[in-house]
Amino acid sequence: MITTVPERPVHADGVPLDWSEPLVPGEVVLDERVAPRGPWSGIVRAGDVLTIVDVGGNQSADFLVYAADDTDERYSAADTIAWQRNVYVRTGTVLRSNLGLPLMTVVGNEVDRQDTIGGACSKESNTLRYGHHTLYQHGCRENFLAEAARYGLGARDLVSNLNWFMNVPVEEDGSLGIVDGMSAPGKRVALRAERDVLVIVSNCPQMNNPCNDFSCTPLRMVVTRP
Ligand SMILES: [Zn+2]
Repeated sequence: MITTVPERPVHADGVPLDWSEPLVPGEVVLDERVAPRGPWSGIVRAGDVLTIVDVGGNQSADFLVYAADDTDERYSAADTIAWQRNVYVRTGTVLRSNLGLPLMTVVGNEVDRQDTIGGACSKESNTLRYGHHTLYQHGCRENFLAEAARYGLGARDLVSNLNWFMNVPVEEDGSLGIVDGMSAPGKRVALRAERDVLVIVSNCPQMNNPCNDFSCTPLRMVVTRP
């Protein structure tokens, strides 16, 4: 019997569907695609693992996480960095709240280092950095605000975020770069929820610097239950 390998399916936006598996095996309880430039949110239950797939490669996934039962407790970049005494986010990094408590743990990671100091783009920062002609473009802040509103959260609830698949090297003199990414199509990061958490993501719409390789592509969010 001759079997042929089917052609790799392609979305309408030209990006191949991703066939990679979640990083941590288990029962798949959610598997959703985040459109290029779009927002996403979901509740991840304690013990479940969220795998984020960089479907097209070098696509920044701007990421916020809150305690689901009390959103006043939310991700803190400063606490996360101070507790691990390192600015890069890698396997083993515990994403900590403003109370210093674990929200999620990085249990799998296929990119050498992940960022939590580069922040999020916005309409305002775009016009300052790249000119008034960019005013019509929405940024991650606008995605965050739109998605946060679904949970009764607003501008005061947005804090310094994580940027999965974005490369922000810290140079010897302490200066930062936002440079070509180290990710590639199908690269993944996996996060285990240490309690019930609300995750809000902006699939970064930025086209004025290399953080998305000048091509906005989909993300895939897979939640598995071990
Ligand atoms: Zn952005």
